[in-house]
Amino acid sequence: MELLWLLLPVAAASGWWVARREYAGRRNRATARNTEYFKGLNYLIEDKPDQAIEVFTRMAGVDRNTAEIHLTLGNLFRRRGEVDRAIHIHGSLIARTTLTADQRRRAMLELGEDYLRAGLFDRAEELFRELLEQPDHTEVALSRLIYIFQQEKDWRQAITYCDRLEQIGGESKKRETAHFCCELAEEASEDDETRTWLLNALARDPGCVRANLLLGRLAMREGDCQAAIATFQAVERQDRGYFPEVIAPLGECYAILNRLDEWGAYLREVQQRDHGGRITDALADWFLRHEGEEAALRFLERELREYPTLLGLRRLVEIQLERGKGAGYADLRALHCVSTQMLNGAARYRCVNCGFVVKALHWCCPGCQQWNTIKPMPDLVMKTST
Ligand SMILES: [Zn+2]
Repeated sequence: MELLWLLLPVAAASGWWVARREYAGRRNRATARNTEYFKGLNYLIEDKPDQAIEVFTRMAGVDRNTAEIHLTLGNLFRRRGEVDRAIHIHGSLIARTTLTADQRRRAMLELGEDYLRAGLFDRAEELFRELLEQPDHTEVALSRLIYIFQQEKDWRQAITYCDRLEQIGGESKKRETAHFCCELAEEASEDDETRTWLLNALARDPGCVRANLLLGRLAMREGDCQAAIATFQAVERQDRGYFPEVIAPLGECYAILNRLDEWGAYLREVQQRDHGGRITDALADWFLRHEGEEAALRFLERELREYPTLLGLRRLVEIQLERGKGAGYADLRALHCVSTQMLNGAARYRCVNCGFVVKALHWCCPGCQQWNTIKPMPDLVMKTST
């Protein structure tokens, strides 16, 4: 027994020594890992991604803490456009068994983004569908799936997932789904199907100008100009910025019905609210055909003094040129040439969201991918305040 008592301090000392060795070992491993980590970081800063990957990959097998490094590293590569590397990093991360459930879901999300960037939509779709079942990621997975279906022009699926996003309290997708219905209407081979989709679009978004534009064209195709006029006029009430888009078909409908006086009265009514170049030009054309050159010139001179537009100016020059060769004829010819060149070269539509300018109307902006943000430009020459 006495001998055992004597051994107690020895046991305590040996326990202390073992613990100290283990602590030193852990500290050494942590120091080595930190050194490796900063080495990798330096490679990254020095724009040596290959060496950085080598270092981080060496660290990869150690523990779940390195998962955060890999997530960051993969994202960096994707942002640099090196999608293959990002896919490799995020892909090998998912394959590991040491990840927490949250880390695995985040890695799946990032891999999905990599696939999207690489244009591998089917693989991205698979991952985002899996993430749909995870409450923390449902909303983001839905929005990415909606993006995929838009890219693939699978409008039916896009509508379904937009509706699901709205149901779980996500952002409103009424404007987008109305356009998806319009896309389906344009694809439809039967007029009845076209009409059903367009009415669906208006039920989703009563402000959908595109639906009324298409309904008006459908009514014209069916020979119902009266209905077409009502539908085109609704466009002006929905968003008068789009009225220039219906001027030509509206004028055609009034002409078919031989109600050109009404057309003139309607144009004058609209012009009280909007003095854009295309309305001025259309009204000048109406004056020219129904009341003659003098009336058209008087209207243009009055209008342009207050609301100068390039289209109005060109129309005025055209009428003057039609009157025949007189003094200043050559100057008028030159002015006509310059204004035509300016109008032909000018972008007629601009995105109100990102400023993207285009010559033709796009319902989805090629710049920012937003729906219904590209609008006709008014062609008003801005007057200075002085
Ligand atoms: Zn845009």
